[in-house]
Amino acid sequence: MIFHLITIFPKIFSAYLNESILGRAQKDKKVEINIYNLREYVDPNDKRQTTDDTSFGGGPGMVMQVEPIYRCVESIKSKIKKQNNNKEKKILVLLTSAKGNLYNQQKAEKMKDKYTDVIMICGRYEGVDERVAEYIADEEISIGQYVLTGGELPAMVIVDSVTRLLDGVLGNKESLLSESYNLKDTDSSSSENYGETVSSFYSNEQFDYPVYTRPAEFNGWKVPEVLLSGNHKEIEEWRIQNANSK
Ligand code: SAM
Repeated sequence: MIFHLITIFPKIFSAYLNESILGRAQKDKKVEINIYNLREYVDPNDKRQTTDDTSFGGGPGMVMQVEPIYRCVESIKSKIKKQNNNKEKKILVLLTSAKGNLYNQQKAEKMKDKYTDVIMICGRYEGVDERVAEYIADEEISIGQYVLTGGELPAMVIVDSVTRLLDGVLGNKESLLSESYNLKDTDSSSSENYGETVSSFYSNEQFDYPVYTRPAEFNGWKVPEVLLSGNHKEIEEWRIQNANSK
């Protein structure tokens, strides 16, 4: 799986993406994360040499221009094709956007199953020229119903949640099985439509069971007795009963 992140703030990513599980996954070549500085894709003949401009029709704030984004996405796509000598690559282009389709675990699963390369465009300022959503991106994606300053955090959220699903990334494969939102009862590859709504997913919602560690008692707050019993059958039953208790 290869992620290609397009941004005007390339330094933002390294502290998070190069640590812990994500850092290890890159070292072990389970995932590749490439960062592209959008400023390197401006038209050399453009005297202003910027990636944004004022909004047609007026209004506050600057708008990210379509042209550098187009150049950058095209350059990434041709690099992917060249490097792979026609080996089939499945590329998804996402535009991060507060008004996009809501991201969830189902989308993470589908991304992992269906695509080899995910290009993500990180917006800034007032937003991105609408022609990017219309002609360049396959889908506009939102990580929640709130407005962030830029698309870099959403891109990292998506990279993180997909990477931990890749084979061999988590030390213990079983961690994924009991995890919240695990879709073991649904066939995530059955739908051809990547951008479907999330309502069907929420009917399959499940949460992880509560977990505790030492000490067994702190401040008078006790760990449930059954977890200390060593009785695996009873522990399993307790976990099933308490998994969806929120
Ligand atoms: N004017 C836009 C609006 O009201 O929808 C908000 C623009 S926001 C300040 C700048 C950029 O941050 C967006 O273009 C998008 O790339 C990113 N962004 C902000 N909130 C987001 C969210 N919830 N999910 C995904 N991307 C988001």
